[in-house]
Amino acid sequence: MWLSSLFWLAHCNPNSALLQFHGLGGKVKETIKKAAQTVCHSTKSIALTGAGISVESGIPDFRSPGGLWERFNPIEYSTIGAFQANPEKVWRMLQEVSHLLARARPNPAHTGLGRLQELGLLHTIITQNVDSLHQEGGATRVIEYHGNTRTLSCLWCKQRYKADELGGQIPPECSCGKILKPDVVFFGEPIPTRALQESYELVSTCRVLLIAGTSGEVAPANTIPEMAKKAGATIIEVNVEPTVLTEYVTDIFLQGKASEMMTKLVSEVESILVKN
Ligand code: NAD
Repeated sequence: MWLSSLFWLAHCNPNSALLQFHGLGGKVKETIKKAAQTVCHSTKSIALTGAGISVESGIPDFRSPGGLWERFNPIEYSTIGAFQANPEKVWRMLQEVSHLLARARPNPAHTGLGRLQELGLLHTIITQNVDSLHQEGGATRVIEYHGNTRTLSCLWCKQRYKADELGGQIPPECSCGKILKPDVVFFGEPIPTRALQESYELVSTCRVLLIAGTSGEVAPANTIPEMAKKAGATIIEVNVEPTVLTEYVTDIFLQGKASEMMTKLVSEVESILVKN
């Protein structure tokens, strides 16, 4: 699943009229307004989020300079084979991640998406993140495409535990004596079947896909935008920089920090609702 799947870009339409927000006064407002109107008029909107939406909550994305992958080679620390071979070693990396997640709090991008759900304008959030910040930010319907850290399982005897019943011991151990693995999807593991099926059903019938903070480089989550596009959805993308999705799939590009863009978007949505 983790193979880069850029092959699909060849099938996309590169001629879509891309509306871009580049920090230029009136044009910014127009682009935000267009995005807000699109969300307000949509009968079914889905969000797709990635590591970038949690950067402002204090969880750096792993591949940027200084990120986790600079110190922990993902092949050595993030494959299921690596965990099976040497779980103690992999827990050195997981311990750092756990500390980051423990301190993180939802930022206005998370709460903004929660607010859109509250307003009945966002059906479901599909997130690649494992940090539970969408739920903490008020979202009630979230598909965790890559699992979460709230539970841990034993690969050997299959027992499952809640993280908060394990007492903070690192590495955490199962009653059978083996080391537990957090229920996040490692490289080489399949996406949980239910998450995959539900996402497919929702995305293939959505009218708007709101993408925030994903590079579009991790498969198979990066096939979701094209799936939505093929279903006729309008694609709104929020990112600090253009991605592989921007030119070929995105219709409305909001360039900037997720928290700022989402705050502006939600505020515009609310003012449209008040006027109507
Ligand atoms: P990625 O690291 O490949 O890409 C992150 C994207 O976010 C980039 O395009 C970057 O330009 C953008 N970005 C950075 N800061 C931003 C900001 N403030 N506002 C808006 N955009 C911003 O992330 P990915 O596509 O999600 O794939 C990485 C994988 O690593 C995923 O599987 C994810 O599960 C995992 N991961 C999860 C977490 C988390 O749970 N918080 C953190 C790091 C990595």
